[in-house]
Amino acid sequence: MSTPVSSQNQPNLRIPGPVPLPDDVLELAGSQMINHRGPGYADMLDRMTKNLKTVFMTKNDAYFITSSGTGAMETAIVNTISSGNKVLSIIIGAFGERFAEIAEAYGGAVTKITFDLGQAADLDKVRETLKGMSDVKAVIFTHNESSTGVSNPLEELCAVIHEESDALILVDAVSSAGGVPIAVDAWGIDVVATASQKSWISPPGISMVTFSDKAWKAHATSTSPKYYLDVQQYEDYLKIGQPPFTPCLPAMFTLEVALQSMVDEGIENVFGRHHEIAQHTRDGAKALGLELLPDPKFASNTVTAIRLPEGLDGKAFLAKVNKDHNVILGGGQKALVGKIFRVGHMGWVEKSHIDEALKAAEETLKSMTS
Ligand SMILES: *Cc1c(COP(=O)(O)O)cnc(C)c1O
Repeated sequence: MSTPVSSQNQPNLRIPGPVPLPDDVLELAGSQMINHRGPGYADMLDRMTKNLKTVFMTKNDAYFITSSGTGAMETAIVNTISSGNKVLSIIIGAFGERFAEIAEAYGGAVTKITFDLGQAADLDKVRETLKGMSDVKAVIFTHNESSTGVSNPLEELCAVIHEESDALILVDAVSSAGGVPIAVDAWGIDVVATASQKSWISPPGISMVTFSDKAWKAHATSTSPKYYLDVQQYEDYLKIGQPPFTPCLPAMFTLEVALQSMVDEGIENVFGRHHEIAQHTRDGAKALGLELLPDPKFASNTVTAIRLPEGLDGKAFLAKVNKDHNVILGGGQKALVGKIFRVGHMGWVEKSHIDEALKAAEETLKSMTS
């Protein structure tokens, strides 16, 4: 990405996706449409697919699908699971629940293990649960739980699952991929799901998945009904340099640039930047005397969840931050409504954006508690 220039008078959008876009990306998203069955698209798709595989450190197949992130999660399920298959769902928050619901919608026999909000999955508990089960078709979980600001220890979790089962590993990495390392091949992940409006500095509209050989084997016998999200369609069309259906072109245009710039910058540097800005956010919140929701060992590098003082009206707080400071913070979801606020720091974000958001929170808290 070229040097980002903040547009004047735009709100400081600090939710965990959609992320704000710098001016040059906004301009690109407004480009003229092209023929998605023409040679230009084929070239673009080829480059994008190669770069996506580089970011995911994988030789597995990778596809672009026109949907939000939930479509990629559903893609993971419908292509690998059949009605009646045993699925272990590891839940650390709202998005983990969603993944379980999708598996249930397709008839999966879902066993859930749920951890306290703010905690990551406990490896011993996962191991013990798998030891007590047989013929588990898939283990499904969220990598980075955006609702609590917690990142599961993905590498360790995959190792435990491989040691204790032959299950497929399906990962909702919607809010981690592109900001946090995910070594698909080294860690043995079968399907990874992500979406353009998170770390990828793009508008919503495109989701991305990787698909392993083992996942393809499951696809061959999966009886779940599918059409739009059938990976076979994406694979067949990829061979002729086309999308099976009309793609969300504005998001494809910006993703092409984002993927290329990530590869040019070096993915370790991209991940390093996310770690640094996350640490800056956590330090800043703590300096204000605020407490983080997550267990510090598993605090997310793409979104920080911060506890609000007991008894404070969380909804009024968010509204006042917006009105007085033109800063848009994320609120809590489900059981955490009114109890936390969240600061997104994925994609295009600078320390000044974070400092401004934290200052807005500080001043608003002061005015509401004095
Ligand atoms: C944003 C997000 C999703 C997908 O949400 P969509 O609105 O469907 O794009 C899924 N999982 C996580 C962890 C997310 O942060």
